[in-house]
Amino acid sequence: MRDEQLIPKTYDPHRVEKKWYEFWLEKNFFHAEPEKGGEPFCIVIPPPNVTGSLHLGHALDNTMQDVLVRWRRMQGYNTLWLPGTDHAGIATQARVEEQLAKEGLSKYDLGREKFLERVWAWKEAYGGKIIEQLKRLGASCDWERERFTMDEGCSRAVREVFCRLYEKGLIYRGSYIINWCPRCRTTISDIEVEHTDEEAKLYYITYPGVDGGPGITVATTRPETMMGDTGVAVNPNDQRYRHLIGKKVILPLMNREIPVIADEIVDPSFGTGAVKVTPAHDPNDFEIGRRHGLPEIVAIGKDGILTAEAGRYAGMTREEARQRVVQDLAEEGLLLKVEDYTHAVGHCYRCGTTIEPLVSEQWFVRMKPLAEPAMEAVKQGRIRFVPERFTKIYLNWLENIRDWCISRQLWWGHRIPVWYCRECGATICAVTDPTECSQCGGTGLEQDPDVLDTWFSSALWPFSTMGWPEHTKDLDFYYPTTVLVTGRDIIFFWVARMIFMGLEFMDDVPFREVLIHGLVLDALGRKMSKSLRNGIDPLEVIEKYGADTLRFTLLTGNTPGNDLRFYWEKVEGARNFANKVWNASRFAMLNLKDFRPEEAGDLKNGEGLTLADRWILSRFNKTVSGVTANLEAYELGEAARLLYEFIWSEFCDWYIEVIKPRLYGKESEESRRTAQAVLHYVLINTLELLHPFMPFLTEEIWQHLPHQGESIVVAPWPEVQQNFDDAKSEAEMEFLMEVIRGIRNMRGEMNIHPGRSVRCVAIAVPEHGALLQSYRSYVENLANCDPLEITGPGQSKPKQALSTVVRGTEIYLPLAGLVDLDKELARLEKEAKTIDGVLQRVQKKLSNEQFLAKAPPEVVEKEREREAELRRTKEALNRRLAALKS
Ligand SMILES: [Zn+2]
Ligand SMILES: [Zn+2]
Repeated sequence: MRDEQLIPKTYDPHRVEKKWYEFWLEKNFFHAEPEKGGEPFCIVIPPPNVTGSLHLGHALDNTMQDVLVRWRRMQGYNTLWLPGTDHAGIATQARVEEQLAKEGLSKYDLGREKFLERVWAWKEAYGGKIIEQLKRLGASCDWERERFTMDEGCSRAVREVFCRLYEKGLIYRGSYIINWCPRCRTTISDIEVEHTDEEAKLYYITYPGVDGGPGITVATTRPETMMGDTGVAVNPNDQRYRHLIGKKVILPLMNREIPVIADEIVDPSFGTGAVKVTPAHDPNDFEIGRRHGLPEIVAIGKDGILTAEAGRYAGMTREEARQRVVQDLAEEGLLLKVEDYTHAVGHCYRCGTTIEPLVSEQWFVRMKPLAEPAMEAVKQGRIRFVPERFTKIYLNWLENIRDWCISRQLWWGHRIPVWYCRECGATICAVTDPTECSQCGGTGLEQDPDVLDTWFSSALWPFSTMGWPEHTKDLDFYYPTTVLVTGRDIIFFWVARMIFMGLEFMDDVPFREVLIHGLVLDALGRKMSKSLRNGIDPLEVIEKYGADTLRFTLLTGNTPGNDLRFYWEKVEGARNFANKVWNASRFAMLNLKDFRPEEAGDLKNGEGLTLADRWILSRFNKTVSGVTANLEAYELGEAARLLYEFIWSEFCDWYIEVIKPRLYGKESEESRRTAQAVLHYVLINTLELLHPFMPFLTEEIWQHLPHQGESIVVAPWPEVQQNFDDAKSEAEMEFLMEVIRGIRNMRGEMNIHPGRSVRCVAIAVPEHGALLQSYRSYVENLANCDPLEITGPGQSKPKQALSTVVRGTEIYLPLAGLVDLDKELARLEKEAKTIDGVLQRVQKKLSNEQFLAKAPPEVVEKEREREAELRRTKEALNRRLAALKS
């Protein structure tokens, strides 16, 4: 029903946002049913961490998804946006551990079971926060389908996938070098390690030859790991060390004989060209060690403390051990020199602790057989990355992929579904908890203590959320999903893994397209971070300006794959735009009080339309096709810009201004009715185009206008009407607009008050004469000239007048009577003289070689700009002087 009440003077987002969101939920507009058939359009949300609260990255990602979903819904697609959250292993466990620490407890005091009860309780109490925040943003998800990576269905899918991969030999257990965080006490995946440059030392240490033979000097940044050394490596082509290859040297401090080996990976230009090999504590050394069959000695434990293998250094921290080792080497005369050295050091992304690479027993996914089809799918175009350049990054990563370490030493997460039999030693992998050993029938079973990497469950998200492994209607209808919208920072963590899991278990890609967006940076182009304190809370923006303004800010300048800068002027720009839409709509409301769309004629037959009507309908048509085409190409920023330009300039600043006399009844009643019909048509359809971008504002206005249907959410997407295309009217109207702008500029130059009407003379070329005659009222009304005299070529030009030329037609603004000519002449001459003086000084500076050589480039550039500006002012003054003297 149409709300007859007038809309308030100013737009108040808080008054409307909650109201409409509740209305949408109540009407169930976001709910999707496969039974309804039609063409599916489906997006699964990148699940935010259940511990999280909305940051600008989420706001961007979800605004983009919502734009696409709302647009397709209006186009009549069977649209599903499936929401949910991720259990976020480390992050969630850490929150609860912090809470326990305040009570003076550790998780070991509670034990695994009690601890997990606490985590679930925490999740129930605080975990839903981000979902509520997404609702405030306007996200039109099907909340009835909200999922959680650890809910019953998703957990079942995880076990099923694990067991099937295990049975296929694609999951195995083995010792391998992993990144270990001694503080979090868990494995960190390669991509979770943050590398930062650190100033360190490079130690040159001599390893003496066996029986006094020639020794070898190695260079290392980590002397504390040398107790785990099992070799020294050189490059096979390095002449300096050829004679030593195959010989043995003595590992200092430990008095152990270790071999000198040759390996291509050694860089002869680093240090001395010889490096110590510590297979258990360095990923490269691990590879070297495996190639050459070197033992792996774990000299540093999981607690970051040196082990018994480290001899007299056992029990020390890594830092203590380094100090002692260096001291002892110096005393033995084996420390040749120490150099300053800057290199990248890996840190835990969660706690910042220096990562300790170490060899341990972990679970792995064998990647080669899974990566092949995942590369093929993209190469064959079954999945398309937008923008295209991410294809290469994706393929590159998969080509060089190592096996995926999936075990984590946490309690919160999907526990590995593997049991060990205490009686016969069998390993049992099972979807449902076994009660007895399948080998010996014994009941002494113990489950593997580790949980799975969080990304293991999110890799299954596109199908686990739709009921897999059951064969469901949802999977039949909505899988593969249409598009994944995600940040470029998680292509490897997540996108690639969803692709190979989808191909393996659904035999089809999880999505057809991947729309990648960049990061939201601050005004200076820096990443937002806690340490820089430059973060912006999107909820604060919503509080202050409303959700639509935040959304429009994030869409302004949005291009696929590129980072986006966030600054307050942009927010204010979006807010001003919202207000502009509001004010124009309010004006329309006031003038549509007696308008009944059903009584209006069909605009498509063109009856009674004026030039301005035909022009705005034609421009509107172009906007519909432009916005639609840009949405199809995922150019959301360009679509938003087209709408902004059309609404702000063509619709508000021109069309509404042109039709005011008609709406006020200054022409015929029929003309007023036609103006109402066009105004209503363009406004309501424009609101529909704008709805995906600014859902709340558009619903509020739409409901106040005469409309059909229950809500703008389910209104049909505007379509191009061939009848409205009218190039001739566009060209004619543009000519008149140029004339009006020309007169406005001349008025501006002479500082003539907008309320004061002026006489203008147009010497029109033949093709414009009739047009100007017919639409002189547009010019007279919008440029406030009274009258506009129209003459033809060869007619005399007015004296003492400013002039401008529009496509050959000359427009004059006679100054007599407007200004005191003598006084104005004197004023302008004085001004010209002053400008001249300043200009000369600037020019002198710019021709001074010393200034040019010494001043910083930006200072010189500023002076150049100043010179250009002064020149322009001088030219304008001269023009006005010439006019006055004519
Ligand atoms: Zn850590
Ligand atoms: Zn057994």
